[in-house]
This record gives sequence, structure tokens and C-alpha cells, in this order.
Amino acid sequence: MKDTSYWPAVPNRKNAALRVVAGYLLFWGAWSLFAANVLELVVPASSPGLLKGLKEGLFICFSAVLVFALVRGNLSSQRREDERLQEIMRGVSAQVGDAFFDQLSLQLSRALNVEYAFIGQFDDQNGDELKTVAVSVRGKKRANFIDPLEGSPCGEIRDGHSFCLAEDARRHFPHSPLLSERGVESFVGTPLFDSDDNPMGLIAVMDGRPITDRYRAESMLRIFAARASAELERQRNENAIARLAFYDSVTGLPKQQLFKERLDEAIAAARLKGQELEVLYLDFDRFRTIVRTLGHPAEEVLLKEISGRLSDALEGEEFLAQAGSDEFLLMATDVESPEKAEGLASRLLEALQAPFSYQGHSLHLSASIGLAMFPYDGEDTETMIRNADAARTRTKQMGGNHYQFYFPDIGNYSLSALILENRLHQALEKDEFALRYQPQMNLRTGLVEGMEALVFWKQPEAKPVGPSDFIPLAEETGLIDPIGEWVLREACVQNRRWQEAGLPPQRMSVNVSARQFFQSSIVELVARILEETGLEGRWLGLEITESVIMQDVKQAIDTLHQLKAMGVQVIIDDFGTGYSSLSYLKQFPIDTLKLYQSFVAGIPDDTGDKAITAAVIAMAHTLNLELVAEGVEKAEQRDFLSEKGCDKIQGFLFSVPLKAEEVTELLSG
Ligand code: C2E
Ligand code: MG
Ligand code: MG
Repeated sequence: MKDTSYWPAVPNRKNAALRVVAGYLLFWGAWSLFAANVLELVVPASSPGLLKGLKEGLFICFSAVLVFALVRGNLSSQRREDERLQEIMRGVSAQVGDAFFDQLSLQLSRALNVEYAFIGQFDDQNGDELKTVAVSVRGKKRANFIDPLEGSPCGEIRDGHSFCLAEDARRHFPHSPLLSERGVESFVGTPLFDSDDNPMGLIAVMDGRPITDRYRAESMLRIFAARASAELERQRNENAIARLAFYDSVTGLPKQQLFKERLDEAIAAARLKGQELEVLYLDFDRFRTIVRTLGHPAEEVLLKEISGRLSDALEGEEFLAQAGSDEFLLMATDVESPEKAEGLASRLLEALQAPFSYQGHSLHLSASIGLAMFPYDGEDTETMIRNADAARTRTKQMGGNHYQFYFPDIGNYSLSALILENRLHQALEKDEFALRYQPQMNLRTGLVEGMEALVFWKQPEAKPVGPSDFIPLAEETGLIDPIGEWVLREACVQNRRWQEAGLPPQRMSVNVSARQFFQSSIVELVARILEETGLEGRWLGLEITESVIMQDVKQAIDTLHQLKAMGVQVIIDDFGTGYSSLSYLKQFPIDTLKLYQSFVAGIPDDTGDKAITAAVIAMAHTLNLELVAEGVEKAEQRDFLSEKGCDKIQGFLFSVPLKAEEVTELLSG
């Protein structure tokens, strides 16, 4: 039942004034007609002058008393009104934010004796909705609501005008749930403006009865609109700042700070309930290289797509936040088994598998994920995040595109990576890198035909380090640029030296990493080194792995064409590890395919490896490509490859990687 008698009704002042005037005229009429008769009872009829004087005098006295009473009444009602206003002012003045709006709506509904009072703002994102910030119903704070502006009296205020329906509101807005659900008869509202004079919200009152004093309601709303506007704008600015502080401006995802707060709460809850939870640290492999190549706008586009895909991969209570540009933090509560913990990591990796596209480029991204489980891998937020991060670093060191659980010793691995990085820096200055050359054999002639330059690190007081142990770190830290340049120059200088010594000219292949390849300067670098060393382009081969060129097919094709224009040979290394199909390969200007070692390793026992090897050789030949099989260790492997028509082999069977002097000897022999 709707209670409309919550407060006594305020008297209708316009009618009251009319009633006073009518009463006064009535009294004047009656006095004119009957005063003489009444006065004759007390004044002798013999003195008409006295009678007239008394009649007029008494009328004036009575009028004066009436005017006095009216003025006094009016003044005191005005004083009461002032006091009421001041009371509201006092009620709200000490408040800010939500408390201010709550108080204001309560006080307004009380002062105006209306059932509903509310303050709302027009939604920024969804322009056709009003979202209330405070609602008071019959003197009590109530839950906020959303009102569609279309077909609602609130919509009338959207363009910046006050709006009033003293009665019959529902007849005017028959489809407004705001009115119909509450049985509203009257509505008064006024807009709230921001400092640029744009309407940003409204303040309104409603009642189940016709409004008795709309002017009073309107003026009171207007009085408070200024303060409410200022407060609403302040709150909006504050929210915007909080959004900036807590949410990423590009992806809209919560930032690390917010993640930590949520994790704090989740850990407390998990401890209480004896549950397990997991934290995942996800970081993209080679993201910086890709962004550096494609430019800053690509970063934004990719991050938006990435955050969309990651969000879509979430289920239930899982929470995603952004820890840095291409780093993300996730948590999942109530993870009762390692399988369930792994489930999220696999889902994320899967979501990133399909290529990303940017301006016609098709990009393959992969990520490294580290997992930490509460309570085993950490009992507080900081430790959990740190350990998930350590596990992520480890995943990355292992080649990326995977996930890895934290384990107690993992810190040592990360620490050793740090030490390694530090020493790697000095290695360049101290000239601690050296090259070995692994010759290749032409299977038809049995002669040396070409070789591959392989770098290694001759640490003075320790064992030499192979490239697999420091190239990934060098890529990650950017050290690959100077190291790669050194390798390229050294290989070309050495090759030229052999030629000048009159030895049969050989194609020297040099490995190029993703970072080197996608830097536009690779073309200039190669041109400069060929020029400096006087080596002809055709005696240099660049080995690029299949997965690298697949990272950005369009740019790869472009760069390869420029290299080919200098006569440089292009070799796809470790073929079979990527995703290339035959039709894909056709677009690349390449000369040679190098079959991935593990297929060769499976020969002669593994029928699958044998079938793949045979198919790749046949495929290479249909594309007019030369095929080199690497990692050939056994005579059976050589024989199988020879039988299938493979062009060249490289491997320990023919020769291990050699020092320059050893190659001189081999070529001279
Ligand atoms: P890759 O280019 O596929 O090089 C072939 C690897 O196989 C070399 O390992 C080589 O020593 C090894 N190998 C050769 N014959 C055999 C064999 O018969 N059996 C087996 N099991 N292995 C054999 P290495 O020297 O450890 O190089 C590893 C990887 O490091 C290379 O793989 C290449 O991707 C990278 N790398 C080497 N030098 C450089 C460089 O100067 N720059 C860059 N960016 N990467 C390099
Ligand atoms: Mg290679
Ligand atoms: Mg290889």
C-alpha cells in the first residue's frame, strides 16, 4: 500500500491568499450592510456623525489588525522557510561525495514533503540512461536505480531545462517505468550543469499526489542544484582520476595496484576457508621487437585485442589485470587441483594462438606464463606475485610460449640469468666471442659446399658457453644487436680471407635472430658489411628460423626481397618447427630450406620422421629450393637422405663445427 500521508500536507499558499482576499471582501460587504444597525445598538441614533466616524474608524482598525496579522504571518512563514532551508544547508554542508547526495535527497523529500527525492547523472558511456547517485523514499535512503531517459520525464531535463508536472504525470509519460512502478502523480526536476554548462545530471522530487506548491519545489531544487552540480562534477573528476590510477587507459583493465588489493582479499578469504588459489604472471615473447618494428599505434591496437582475448578466456571468478605494457596478472580462486590451475594457463595460451592482424600484417604472438599456488608458493600478495614472476622468467628462458609452475630453487635460476646478463655485457668489450664453422657436404659430389658460422662464448675461467645458453638472453636484453653485428662482420671477413687465399669460394651462412631481422637496419647492416669486407652478396647466406618470419609475414617478405636484391642467399632454418604450409612458403623469396634436426634424429627408426623428411625434400624440390639436412650423425641417416634426393648434409658425421685454421686445412686438402 502506498503511504501518501507520511507528512502533513503543506497548505496551498495561492489559494490561501485568494481565500483571505475573498474573506476580506465578504467582511467589507457585511460591514457596509450591517455595521450601521450594529453600531446603533451602542451609539445613540441622534448622532449620525459619530456613527459614521465610528463605522469608518472601526473598519480601518480592523483592516489594520488584519494587515498586521497577515504580514506577521507571512514573515514568520518566510522565517520558517528560511530556517528549513538553513536546516537543509546545515545537514548537507559538512558532507561530501555520496554522503552529501544522500543527505540532500533526504532533506529535500522532508522539506518538500514528497515521497521521492533523487539525484542522478546522465551516463557518459550510455547516453540514454540516468544513473542515480542518491535516492530517498519516504525519508529513507534507498538503492540507486537506472532510468532509461526515453519516455521518462528525466529525459526532458537532458537538454538543460527544468521540468515540472504538477499532476497526472503518468498520463503524460505512460511508458515510464520510473513513474508507473512507483505510482507517481507529480514530478519536479531541475538539471545539474558541469563547469562547461553542459547538463550532466538532475535533481528531482516525485510524489503519489499532485504537487501542492510547485513554485516552492522548483525554487528549492534550483537553490541546491548549484551545490549538487559542483559536488557531482568533483565526484566525476575524482572517479576519472581513480580510473586513471587503477585502470589502464588503453585496455581498461585493472592495474597492478587494484590486483594487489583484490589478491589481498582473496588470500584472506582462501586462508579462512582453507582453499587454494593461483596467481599467473603472463608476459609476451618478443613483444617489444614487434612493437619497435611496427610503431607505437600497433602497440595500442595489439594490446586492446590481447586484453579482449584474455578477458574472453576467463571463467567464473578469475580476475585479470595489467601489470605493465605487455605483462598481465591473473588470479583464480578455489583451485582444488594442479590440473585446474593449469587449465587457466592453457586456455590463455590457446586464446593467443590465432594470428593477430595489424594493417594487413599477420602476427603470431606467444606468451610465457608463470604460476604460483597459495599457500604452497607464498602466503602473501607480494610473495605470490614475485614467485609467479620468477616462474615466468624461467618459462621465458626455456624458450617461451608455455607455462611453468614456481619451485623453490627457481630463484637461483633467475639469479644466474642476471649474473649471465651482466657478464654477457662485458664479454663483448673483452672480445670473448668466437666463431666456429660447420662445413656442409654436397650429397651428390661428397665435397664441402658451404658452411654455417656458429658463435660461442669462450669464458676465460670457465667452460665455453654454447649459443643456445646465451642467445635467448641476448635477444631479450637487446645485446643480440652488437653480438649479431660482430658475428656477421667476423664471418664475412673470414670468408673473404679464404677467398683471397685462393681457396674455393664458399657460401657462409650466418644465423639471424628475430630482433635483428625485424629491425629495418638489417638490410643496411648487411650492405655495409659486404661493402667493408668486399665480399660478394652471393657468398653470404642468412639463416632465419621459420617461426621468426611467421611473426610478420608482410615485413618478412619485404626485407627478404631487399636482401635478395644484394645477392644474399636466404635460408629458412629449423624448417618443420613453425606453421608454414606449402602455399605460405611460395610467397617468400628464399633459396634453401634447412630441415629441423629432430626429424633427422628420428631416422632410421621413426617412420613418422622418415615420412616427414621425405615429404619436405620433395616439397623443397617442387619449389625449386635447395634442401639441407642438419644434425646428421649416422651413416644410415646420410644414406636415407641421399636416397630421397636431399642436396646437402650438415652434422657431426661429416664434421663438427671447426676453427678457422681447421677449415683452411679442410678446404686446402
Ligand atoms: P642452428 O642454426 O640450427 O645450428 C645448428 C646447431 O646444431 C648448432 O648448435 C650445431 O652445433 C648443432 N649441430 C651440428 N651438427 C650436429 C649434429 O650432428 N648433431 C647435433 N645434435 N647437433 C649438431 P649450436 O652451435 O649450439 O647452435 C644452436 C643454435 O644457436 C643455432 O641453431 C642457432 O639458432 C643459434 N645460433 C648460433 N650462432 C648464432 C649466431 O651467431 N646468431 C644467432 N642469432 N643465433 C645463433
Ligand atoms: Mg642455423
Ligand atoms: Mg637449425
